[in-house]
Amino acid sequence: MDELYEKWKRTVEMLEWEGIIKSKEVREAFLRYPRYLFVEDRYKKYAHLDEPLPIPAGQTISAPHMVAIMLELAKLKPGMNVLEIGTGSGWNAALISYLVKRDVYTIERIPELVEFAKRNLERAGVKNVHVILGDGTKGFPPKAPYDVIIVTAGAPRVPDPLVEQLKPGGRLIIPVGSYHMWQELLEVIKKKDGSVEIKSHGGVAFVPLIGEYGWKE
Ligand code: SAM
Repeated sequence: MDELYEKWKRTVEMLEWEGIIKSKEVREAFLRYPRYLFVEDRYKKYAHLDEPLPIPAGQTISAPHMVAIMLELAKLKPGMNVLEIGTGSGWNAALISYLVKRDVYTIERIPELVEFAKRNLERAGVKNVHVILGDGTKGFPPKAPYDVIIVTAGAPRVPDPLVEQLKPGGRLIIPVGSYHMWQELLEVIKKKDGSVEIKSHGGVAFVPLIGEYGWKE
């Protein structure tokens, strides 16, 4: 365990040195919830590597740099209402909960991963993340409107329900592009008058977002 943590600390230091982790808050979140707590035993020894790793059901836990980029972009503050789409292992949701210090809602479409994430979160001692089974492309109306929605799978276009469920001034962070592993990381800002401004933050590679407002199965 200590050796895993030492290696993880070095990964966090590397991400800071590279300028990817910029804030004290994201650094603290990464140190509080190391990635090895959210992978199967056989992958723990690889969890400090800055690349995606397999999780059950043919899905992936994102690379540390990708998660850091999205969290820095999200500029999360205590008290913000955040929805995550694509729970996977539960790692990013744990980090979000550390940053907002309140209940976080995260949606996953694969039942096996809902169970996997719940187990990981429980073992990591995370109490304020609610994992919901469903199609995240439709958002999660019961807890809307959101300050920030973070989507961790690649969409063909920006799903309308997600923009609708943002507060005025709220932001949606979402990879949009092709089905196979190339998307642009978009920040969709909902203005006070309901119009949107879209900023691009470069190329990324995610598994597909599958659902009513995403890719078809
Ligand atoms: N955030 C995750 C983590 O911290 O481990 C990694 C997410 S993984 C790259 C993308 C996840 O999105 C997969 O688990 C996949 O099943 C899920 N997904 C794809 N389409 C979805 C949808 N419409 N609703 C909810 N989850 C979806």
